[in-house]
Amino acid sequence: MTIGSGHDAVVIGSGAGGGAVAWQLCQMGLKVLVLEAGPAFDPPTDYPLTTAGWERRGFPSPPGSRAMLRYGDLGTLDPDSEDLASWSRGGFPWRLPSGAARPPSDAGYSHVMGLGGSTLHYVGESHRLHPDVFRRHSLTGQGRDWPLSYDDLESYYSQAEQVIGVASDGAADGRPRAAPYPLPPHPLGPGARALVAAGARIGQRWQVNPRAALSQPYNDRPACNYCGGCSRGCPLGDKGSTDVTFLRQASRTGRLSVVPEAIVTRLLAGPNGRIVRADVIVQGRAETVETPILFLCAGAVQTPRLLLLSASADQPLGLANSSDQVGRNFIETLAWRSTGLVAGLKGSHRGLPADAICWAPDAADPGGFRLNHTTLEAGLNGPIAYANRLLSGHGVALKEALRNQFGSAVSVGAIGELVPDERSRVTLDAQMRDALGLPVAQISSVLTPAALDRLRRMRLAARAVLAEAGAELVEEAGSRDAFTATHVFGTARMGTDPTTSVTDPFGRTHDHPNLWVADASLFPGSGGGESPSLTIMALALRAAKAAA
Ligand SMILES: Cc1cc2nc3c(=O)[nH]c(=O)nc-3n(C[C@H](O)[C@H](O)[C@H](O)COP(=O)(O)OP(=O)(O)OC[C@H]3O[C@@H](n4cnc5c(N)ncnc54)[C@H](O)[C@@H]3O)c2cc1C
Ligand code: SF4
Repeated sequence: MTIGSGHDAVVIGSGAGGGAVAWQLCQMGLKVLVLEAGPAFDPPTDYPLTTAGWERRGFPSPPGSRAMLRYGDLGTLDPDSEDLASWSRGGFPWRLPSGAARPPSDAGYSHVMGLGGSTLHYVGESHRLHPDVFRRHSLTGQGRDWPLSYDDLESYYSQAEQVIGVASDGAADGRPRAAPYPLPPHPLGPGARALVAAGARIGQRWQVNPRAALSQPYNDRPACNYCGGCSRGCPLGDKGSTDVTFLRQASRTGRLSVVPEAIVTRLLAGPNGRIVRADVIVQGRAETVETPILFLCAGAVQTPRLLLLSASADQPLGLANSSDQVGRNFIETLAWRSTGLVAGLKGSHRGLPADAICWAPDAADPGGFRLNHTTLEAGLNGPIAYANRLLSGHGVALKEALRNQFGSAVSVGAIGELVPDERSRVTLDAQMRDALGLPVAQISSVLTPAALDRLRRMRLAARAVLAEAGAELVEEAGSRDAFTATHVFGTARMGTDPTTSVTDPFGRTHDHPNLWVADASLFPGSGGGESPSLTIMALALRAAKAAA
C-alpha cells in the first residue's frame, strides 16, 4: 500500500510534540505524513455544552482514544502519610483505606489518543520553564541539568505562543521574553480575584496565568466564551490544541497528510542504524512506511513502548536503547488541591479555568512547586458537584444549602516537581496485550518520602491562601492516594552522554541518525510545576528545524 511514498518526513503522533514538528517541517518546505493512532474529534458534536448532563460530561473516550495500560509498582498507602489522605465533606468516595500493602488508586491517567493528542483534553496553561530548571542539579544538587539553556529555547517559546495564541499580561514572572504575548489577558473571575487579594496579605503573589485560550478572535478562531469546559474539550476551537492550530496551519501549506487511526506497531533499523521502515495498522489494514526522517512523538508512555516493542535480534533491548535508558526515569508531577467555601462569594463557577497562578508560594522551597486557581478544573461549575461533594444534608436542607452556597467554592491547586525514584519507569507488561496482540505499557511510579514532604508544603501553601480568603475547607485530594498524573516525562531523555541518555540535546537519538524524539519523553526533569506543553512544542520546533 502507498501511504508511505513520497514524503520527506513521517511524524508518529499529533499531540503537543507531533503537531509542532509537522508545522515546522511543512513551513520549511518538506512534505510530511502524520500517523495518528487515535480518531479525529469533531468539537461541536463531541464536546457539546447544550445537552442534558453537561455538568457531568468528561472528555469523551470513543473507541481507540485511550491506550490500554497496566500499572506496576505505585508504592503503598503508608499509614505514616495518612495525614495526606484525600477527603470530602460531602462524602464523595475519595478516601481510600490506608495500609502498608495497599497501593494508591490507578484510575487517573487520562492522556488522549486522537488528532491533537492530549492537548485536546488539556486545560491550556501555557508556561515557559524557569531558567533555573535547566540548571537544576548544578543549583540544588537535586534532579538533573538539561543539555540546553533557557536562551536556546526562548525564540521557539515565542513561536509556539504565536501559533497556539497565548493570552497574558506580561507581568514579571522570572522568565525573560523578547516578544510580548500575542493576545491580551483574560479578565480574572471571582474566585481568582479572591485569591489575588488574600495572597497579597500573606506574601503570595498571584497573577494572570498565561493561557492558550483566545481573549479576542485570532487567526481564523473565535474568542473564548468562558464556558469553563477546557479540559472537557473546547466546543469553539479557541483553545490552543494542536488540531486547530499547528496542524490546521500546516495543512494550509499543501504539504501535510494526516492519517488518523493509524497505529505504528514497530520500527525497523538497517545495518547502518538508520530506520528503514515503520509498520502501521491503518484502520485495520497492515501497511509499511519508509521515510528519510522519522519523528517519534507518541508521548512519554507510548514512545518508550514503541521503542521497546521494536526489539530484534540485532537490538535486543529495543531501538535507541544502547544506554538501557528507554522507559527509565519516568517522572510524574506532584499534585494537590484544597477547596473551601467562602462565605459571601458569588459566581466562582464562572470565568476561564486556571485564570490565576502563584509561581513561588514557599520561600523555603523555591522552584519546587506553584499554585493555581483550579475551581473549574475541579469540576465545580454546576450544582451536582456541590451536592455530591461539598454540601451535607438531604432534602429541603440540601436545597437550601445549595441555594445559599452555590458559586462560593474556591479551589487552589498545587503542582510540584518530583525527582523520580529509580523504580519509576515504563516497561512492557509481561501479561496484558492490546487488541493487536502487543504487550501494553506498564507504568511504575513511586512517591519518595521527600516527595511526600513536598506534598505537605504544597498543602500548607494552598490552605494558607484559602484561610486568608475566609474559606471553610470542604475537600482535599492529592497524588499520595492516586496516580492522576496529567504531566508525565523522562522516558527517552535528552543529554550529551550517550551512556545516560537516549537522544542528543536536539532530540536526535544517539543510536539512529534519522530517528528523532519530540515529545514529553525528552525531559530530563519535570520543572517546578510548570505545565509542559509549551516546552514540548518549543523543543519540537527546535528539533524539526535541526532535522530539516
Ligand atoms: C486533563 C489534562 C490536563 C492537562 N492540562 C495541561 C495544561 O493546562 N497545560 C499543559 O501544558 N499541559 C497540560 N496537560 C499535559 C499535556 O496535555 C501533555 O503534557 C502533552 O499533550 C504531551 O504531549 P506529547 O506530545 O508528549 O504527547 P500527546 O499530546 O499525548 O500526544 C501523543 C500522540 O501520539 C499518539 N500515539 C501514541 N502511540 C502511537 C502509535 N503507536 N502510533 C501512532 N500514534 C501514536 C497518541 O494517540 C497521541 O495523539 C494536561 C493533560 C491532561 C490529560
Ligand atoms: S472556556 Fe474558552 S477555551 Fe475553555 S472550552 Fe470554553 S470556549 Fe474553549
